Amino acid sequence: MDVRTDAPHLGTEAQKKAHLPPIARGEVRWCQGYSEPGAGSDLARLATRADDLGDHFLVNGTKIWTSGADSADWIYALVRTDPVAAKQDGISMLLIDMRSAGVSTRPIRLISGASPFCQTLFDNVRVPKEQLVGGSAMRNRGWTIGKALLQHERNSAGTRAKNLAVPLLAVARAQSGDDAGRIRDAALRRDVVRNRMGLRAVSLLNQRLIEARARGESPGLWSSVLKYAKRELDKDECELALRALGSDGLGAGAGFDPQHLALTRDWLGSKALSIAGGSAEIQLNIIAKRVLGLPD
Ligand SMILES: Cc1cc2nc3c(=O)[nH]c(=O)nc-3n(C[C@H](O)[C@H](O)[C@H](O)COP(=O)(O)OP(=O)(O)OC[C@H]3O[C@@H](n4cnc5c(N)ncnc54)[C@H](O)[C@@H]3O)c2cc1C
Repeated sequence: MDVRTDAPHLGTEAQKKAHLPPIARGEVRWCQGYSEPGAGSDLARLATRADDLGDHFLVNGTKIWTSGADSADWIYALVRTDPVAAKQDGISMLLIDMRSAGVSTRPIRLISGASPFCQTLFDNVRVPKEQLVGGSAMRNRGWTIGKALLQHERNSAGTRAKNLAVPLLAVARAQSGDDAGRIRDAALRRDVVRNRMGLRAVSLLNQRLIEARARGESPGLWSSVLKYAKRELDKDECELALRALGSDGLGAGAGFDPQHLALTRDWLGSKALSIAGGSAEIQLNIIAKRVLGLPD
């Protein structure tokens, strides 16, 4: 398996000493400041700027969809440190204390009533130069760091956060099973088996990537394959559970079966997770161009 080993581990020793122990102890919450109102899939268009004012950067701009920003202690943010360089070339990564003067968050309320993410605003925020990831050697090279972190984030798709509120096999058997528990509906049976086989293949790929990481290798572009395949299968699994439940499956409001309501949330959540960390289409573009070497 081709797993790249050139991923940068680029924090300075002082940054590692300051931040890694509290992260490992679970004492500190971080959020990720990548996306902006005008830069999502095309992240290199980001416009939040960090002007060099001698001993510190002055940060101005706004990030969007920042998960957990309103409860985070720190944010790692991609910012533009060279406004005239070509898109990817003028970007750096800063570690910003969320209690700094000028940082504010506006939770974004979803149709579900929850607010899992925020708009994060930076208004003349002073960030000490020591907070530039990798120090001056990595100034304007934050794109490389951002990409490497995204590979790790995409890799985490291989780890299941939780099981479906209504397990697919149980519901398919309950709705269409014979006495031996086999799914009678041939089309449903075929699709459930296909989904299970896909999930098994993804779990084997995940295992190989875990072993590669244990050897100190980076997940590389395999993270896009894993992320795409797993998130599509997660969506498919929710669809199949809803299909098995028929008209009882999807709904909301008082009096609706709480387990089915939880499944409805899983179904909606599966769509969000195929966008977070880079949408399915972007993973397909990466796989087509950088894994398979197909032309534009
Ligand atoms: C649950 C969730 C949590 C998130 N948490 C964070 C976070 O903590 N921090 C953070 O920075 N961001 C976060 N995001 C934002 C996420 O990274 C972006 O939503 C994602 O990168 C897509 O960007 P966009 O929303 O601007 O959509 P757009 O980039 O505007 O894309 C819109 C649609 O066009 C398609 N598209 C765009 N470009 C292409 C192309 N070249 N080829 C084919 N199709 C294309 C996309 O696939 C998508 O379907 C989160 C998003 C979600 C859903």
